[in-house]
Amino acid sequence: MSEVLKIIPLGGAGEVNRNMYVYELGDFQIAVDCGIGFPREESLGVDMSIPDISYLEESKKKGKQLLGIILTHGHMDHIGGLPYILPRLPKVPVYGASLALALSKNKIDEFGIKNPMKVVEDKLRLGPFELEFIHVTHSMPDCKHVLIKTSAGVIYHGADFKFDLTPLDNKPTDLISMARAGSRGVDLLLSDCLRVENPGMTPSEKTLLEAIETEVRKTRDKFIFTTMSSSISRIQMAINAAAKYNRRVVLVGRSIEQNVEAASKLGFIKLAKNSLIKANKIKGMKPSSLCFIMAGSLGQEGSAMHRAASGEHRFVKIKKGDRVVISADAIPGYERNVSDLIDALLLQGAEVTYSKTSDNLHVSGHGHKQDLALLAQLIKPTYLIPIGGDLRHMVAYRKMAVEMGYDEGKVMILGGGQTLTLSNGRLNEGARIESKNVYVDGLGIGDVGKVVLRDRKVMAGDGMVVVVIPARRDIRQLGGEIEIISRGFVYVKEAEDLIEEIKAQVKKSLGKEKILDWGFARRKMEKDLEKFIYKITERTPLILSVIIEV
Ligand SMILES: [Zn+2]
Repeated sequence: MSEVLKIIPLGGAGEVNRNMYVYELGDFQIAVDCGIGFPREESLGVDMSIPDISYLEESKKKGKQLLGIILTHGHMDHIGGLPYILPRLPKVPVYGASLALALSKNKIDEFGIKNPMKVVEDKLRLGPFELEFIHVTHSMPDCKHVLIKTSAGVIYHGADFKFDLTPLDNKPTDLISMARAGSRGVDLLLSDCLRVENPGMTPSEKTLLEAIETEVRKTRDKFIFTTMSSSISRIQMAINAAAKYNRRVVLVGRSIEQNVEAASKLGFIKLAKNSLIKANKIKGMKPSSLCFIMAGSLGQEGSAMHRAASGEHRFVKIKKGDRVVISADAIPGYERNVSDLIDALLLQGAEVTYSKTSDNLHVSGHGHKQDLALLAQLIKPTYLIPIGGDLRHMVAYRKMAVEMGYDEGKVMILGGGQTLTLSNGRLNEGARIESKNVYVDGLGIGDVGKVVLRDRKVMAGDGMVVVVIPARRDIRQLGGEIEIISRGFVYVKEAEDLIEEIKAQVKKSLGKEKILDWGFARRKMEKDLEKFIYKITERTPLILSVIIEV
């Protein structure tokens, strides 16, 4: 067996989102997380990015085998890439703790994708990788760090966390397992670094509960709470605060309803009997007896919150006397939407509370400097790699490590496709891999995408078609061969003609002119293609396009 472990970041190194890391030993690989990234100013007029998995596709051709994708927790920047990536990695099982898997299942079900997901309690063996899950606290329940033991060395994969000593669910970080791992020897620690610039320790999520309760107490009529639908802890807090002030809870928006259902089934959301009431049953009830928990905290067009704010929601009419609490971290690219949402709510006469107006409503789920230093003290690794942050966070993390007595050379700053190798306890720079920007449309985030609106049964029956489009940013044109991947629609081998016709149709749709707005071009192409496929096959598979910058 080869004694060299390769570490290949496909996303999340030098950026906050889009987390995906590959560990490779001999012919075997595992991947940790599979997230989406949020847009940056310079993106091609499209909504989101996903990790570039061409390394995995290429190495598969060379006989290497991806044994599984391991999820650390259920946030979108760790699971949101699955619907786009799983069809390209058929038969690769997804492993994780139960909540992360339940949220992922909700997500991939929307796309009609099936996967043999397997819940991991604490230990898992995949080929030459011996994995141990270590429970950590973050801004949602059931989050894990992963200890990866191999013949080439031991790695501690420390994704998003903070040391919350009074967590909402009373399940504290497993400090004992961390210390045990540290005392047995860890070669390399990959650690969250996003909030390293903040001194001290991150306050407990519980401080938020008090802030939310105060908001409910101040509310005369309807209390409306909006957050990301994966923010299970925050939803629980709104439920608790509602119960304290005798308000019944109305869940509004499909993503929130689905996630609450999944999380409460698993015991991660605790609901008193009769605390929920359906939106269509609230007629005639006193506004002061209701608490709405709504999807669309980023002000996404078409979401429940967006419709309510613009006076277009069937059941939720915003009036003077109502209070809306927006509990979501700002995500780059959505500031404008959120700002418009706040304005629209104010115009309807509501009081609006958001992180800028209330300090207590803003508690990070990520560890501040002392949390991060504590993890490093417990794990006592030889080498450190900051992950899940921009360059400035990584550099600040390195400074912290130096303060703790580490040599600067023991802290690796990743980015730009740099890979690493670990053997005999030594970490070295490996080859650089080419990492392209891969863009997809924003179905993964928000409340109502076209997927959600579609009859899921029809979709499951008609399958899906993924169109992979190579794009040249410089000349604003197609930059190579279009690739078509189909799942449950037609078998590519049996329908080569149809696939060729689809490729031709995509090309025709994109046209020969320069493409100034890839987002627009993509949507037009999807629409044209849907009509085209229907004409030929009388079926309407889900069409997903993935734009790869070449
Ligand atoms: Zn997270």
